[in-house]
Parts: sequence; structure tokens; C-alpha cells
Amino acid sequence: MKQSLDRILTSQGFGTRKGVRELIADGEVAVNGQIVTDWRTDVETEGLLITLFGEEDWPYRANLYLALNKPTNYECSRKPSHHPGILTLLPEPYRWRDVQPVGRLDHDTTGLLLLSDDGAFIHAQSHPKHHQPKKYLATLAQAADESLVEQLLSGVKLHDEPAPLSALSAKQVDELHIEMVLEQGKYHQVKRMLAAAGNHCAALSRVAIGGLTLASLNLAEGEYIELDADQLAALN
Ligand code: URA
Repeated sequence: MKQSLDRILTSQGFGTRKGVRELIADGEVAVNGQIVTDWRTDVETEGLLITLFGEEDWPYRANLYLALNKPTNYECSRKPSHHPGILTLLPEPYRWRDVQPVGRLDHDTTGLLLLSDDGAFIHAQSHPKHHQPKKYLATLAQAADESLVEQLLSGVKLHDEPAPLSALSAKQVDELHIEMVLEQGKYHQVKRMLAAAGNHCAALSRVAIGGLTLASLNLAEGEYIELDADQLAALN
């Protein structure tokens, strides 16, 4: 699809119409390697590569689908209060595009977090009816006893939930580690389930969402990648 260059740059998060028109007029924007100085120029978005300031390359994306390896001490909320927000880990143009996390991890939980500016994707992924399985690796405060896995599988009662909540699967990794898959995303669910089962969660990491594993992405903490079609398909 063809669009004027100023409209494209705004959609990609490079600033306001006024701001991007100035960038273009100043010769700071190259379209597929050629500097373009007229913001009215119609440009094909398919396969488009925008270069800013002669150095940064940005492929055109109608929408962004990112996976971040969330570090501890970052908040997922829109208005973080005690720690920096996770969006500060993304480049500025992504933030301008209104990229949002898909659901939330606690500030002290690490691991796989999806982010997107595609409202339909966010809704579909986070809707309770989707039953998206999410796998967590929990470090326990006390060595697991025999009944822990059993309790998580058969269901534990949380004080504000009418029915017991159970894990889809649960497995002891070693004395102090347990892996569990949840279909729901209730507030502090893993921590509260472990507490209800008589233990305590000392550290928590999300290691998979659907069929997409954190390990397959090779991300250091704080790093993100743009998901390709295969990785997106693994979510379903
Ligand atoms: N369960 C929790 O307790 N915390 C998270 O961040 C995610 C799941």
C-alpha cells in the first residue's frame, strides 16, 4: 500500500506530523537507501526500509509483535510507581506506537512477556476464554514436600476465589524448583497457589507462553526481539 512519507513516519513512531516533516525536510530520512526531502512523496510500505540520521534502519511494520525477557524490578503497569516501567526497555519509536504488554508480570517476576501495538492480538492473547497456557519456573523458599505437586494439580483454595484453582501440569525440577503450567492469569496466581499449598515462592520466571519458549529466543534479561511468523504461530 502506498502512503505519504510523513504519514508513514508518524505511524512508525517517529513523532508528530510536524516533527517528521521537519526530519524529512532536513534530509534525515532515507527511503530504501535514498534520501527523500519532500514529505508528500508517496511510498510503498511493503518491504520498506527507513533509515534515520544515516545510521538507524527501521523496517516498516504495520504492527509490532515483541517478546521481552523481563528483568526483575520493572513494572508492567502503564503508570509505574516504584520501579521503571518495562516500556523504558524499548526504543523510543516503539513507545510512540503505543506498544503495550500482553497481560502483566509482577515487578519481581522475570521472563517471557509479549508486547504489541495490535489491540486485537492483545485482546485475543489475554482473554480468559483463550485459555492460553503459561509455564512458570518457581524457586521455592522451602524444599518441596511430596504433596506439593499433588496439591497444585488437584487444586488449592485461594481466599477470594469461589472454586479451587489447579495447575494444568506441575513438575518438581529439584528440591527447590517447581515448574507449573497455568491456564488462568489471576492476580499473583503462582505465588498465592504456592502459599496456599504451604510453601513460599522465593523467585518466579515465566518460561513459556503457548508453544513459545523463552529458551528458544536466546534473550538476555532486558532484551527483546520482534517475533517472526513461526514464533507467532507457536503461540496458538
Ligand atoms: N503468578 C504470579 O504470582 N506472578 C506473576 O508475575 C505471574 C504469575
